Amino acid sequence: MSIHGKNFIGNKLSATSNKSSKIYDINSEDALDGDFYHATSDEVNTALQLANKAFIVYKQKTQKQRADFLDSIADEIMNLGDELIVRTMNESNLPRPRIEGERGRTIGQIKMFATLLRDGSWVEASIDTAMPERTPLARNDLRKMLRPLGVVSVFEASNFPLAFACAGGDTASALAAGCPVIVKAHSSHSGTSELIASAIIKAVKKCDMPSGTFSMVHGNGRSVGQQIVMDERVKAVGFTGSTQGGMNLFDIANKRKTPIPVFAEMGSINPCVFLPSSLKNTKKLASVYAFSITLGVGQFCTNPGLILAIKSSKLEEFKNDLAKEIINLKPAAMLSSGIQEAYETNKEEAIKQHGITVIAQALEENTIAQGRPLVASVNASEFMKNNKFQEEVFGPYSLLVECDDINELDKVVSCLDGQLTATVMGSNSEIAEHINLISNLENKCGRLLFNSVPTGVEVCHSMQHGGPFPASTDSRFTSVGTGAIKRFVRPVCFQDCPSKILPQELKDENSLNIFRLLNGEYTKNSI
Ligand code: NAP
Repeated sequence: MSIHGKNFIGNKLSATSNKSSKIYDINSEDALDGDFYHATSDEVNTALQLANKAFIVYKQKTQKQRADFLDSIADEIMNLGDELIVRTMNESNLPRPRIEGERGRTIGQIKMFATLLRDGSWVEASIDTAMPERTPLARNDLRKMLRPLGVVSVFEASNFPLAFACAGGDTASALAAGCPVIVKAHSSHSGTSELIASAIIKAVKKCDMPSGTFSMVHGNGRSVGQQIVMDERVKAVGFTGSTQGGMNLFDIANKRKTPIPVFAEMGSINPCVFLPSSLKNTKKLASVYAFSITLGVGQFCTNPGLILAIKSSKLEEFKNDLAKEIINLKPAAMLSSGIQEAYETNKEEAIKQHGITVIAQALEENTIAQGRPLVASVNASEFMKNNKFQEEVFGPYSLLVECDDINELDKVVSCLDGQLTATVMGSNSEIAEHINLISNLENKCGRLLFNSVPTGVEVCHSMQHGGPFPASTDSRFTSVGTGAIKRFVRPVCFQDCPSKILPQELKDENSLNIFRLLNGEYTKNSI
């Protein structure tokens, strides 16, 4: 299938603009197949119109119909075969095993939402039956459940061209919730997005979903994405990427006549606290952490970008061991030349700060677009004076903060910004001794890990991927796992509603056999 570069406006392809862009191979600098036509304002408007109209029909589809649709999307993505893998590799510089793994993860999360819908209980159905005889006041029949918000705007992340992209977690959870989706394709992997969009549209047609259930538009001038978020027909936004981008869209959404939620997952430096007992085997610890810091060229939002420890001779040993690991690592190609340039600039800026010492930098010089790993250290007192140290350096970089004692370490934790994750390394007994410090750390993060590394985010019911600001714009929600669906629904209460028009989930007979809170008790019983 050759890449056409057109926008997917509902089920139709469209390319009316004379503005287009290309994607270049990071190493050879040759243009990859495809001119990507930036969506015009009219094309965006048509996509919005179709999505808004589709919502009325799509929200009435049963959970089973939406589950079949999601399964069909997963099947169509698999049907793209090796073409998808090769294109994604070319656009992201990520190796085949990683892309094949990411495709598996993407398919897995789409199917996970299909399973959630088939089970059906996630809608939090709650029924309080009428009590006409109650005195002094009778009680009405009240039935509540989660209902879809409306059109959702999704922005793709550069670092997960499949799993946090066109058919990634945001799209899958919004479609599962009953919301039409408009994706703004990422300008660094638009060909990958096109292939995925074509698979989704095939599923839309096969499952007889209305045109406009899904659209995807190109454009790298910010204006396309901003037009979508400003439009009153859009009811929520899903975003993963830079703090600047996320905050810009958040501000736009909040200045609208009707403000809407923006679920932006932005930066995180993922502090890791090394309690003294964790430094027994410094070689092993250094090897495990060097691996995590440089995994995927450090381009994970859960990268361990900050290590907090107490000064000691064992910490000196750890620094030496970490230096040996980092020096010998070979730099690898980053996602794009833009990301690589940002890494170099941010790294240079970080190591210019007062009090910082470079522990080690990979010896091999970086060639074009490669990220050269670096670890540095700073005293806790300097760290606490300068907020610059808390800025994410997106890439294979980590900063060790050296504290005089446990009290100073606790102070450092207190001044940390919100994070996606925080990690504690230490023996069980030492961890138990520092319960207040750990409680302090819990206040800062969405996921608290023990004796492990933060990279690796399981897609499951119990995952929390989202933390206090500025890690994300709303720490009550997750962008990974089944909980992600809750971002795109709102509770609606039906009072004395005729049974005929009640959603299936709230009807007396409970034909879906879901758990409901019936007069205060969880049950699958009918009424
Ligand atoms: P990004 O620049 O924030 O872009 C993400 C998406 O949002 C892109 O589609 C982009 O459009 C769009 N966008 C960004 N700013 C916008 C604005 N002001 N108005 C409208 N649309 C906007 O993120 P990225 O390209 O993935 O990576 C850039 C940097 O973000 C990295 O160097 C890294 O520092 C950080 N990052 C963080 C994470 C994380 O998980 N925390 C993940 C990836 C990247 P275009 O396609 O037109 O650019």
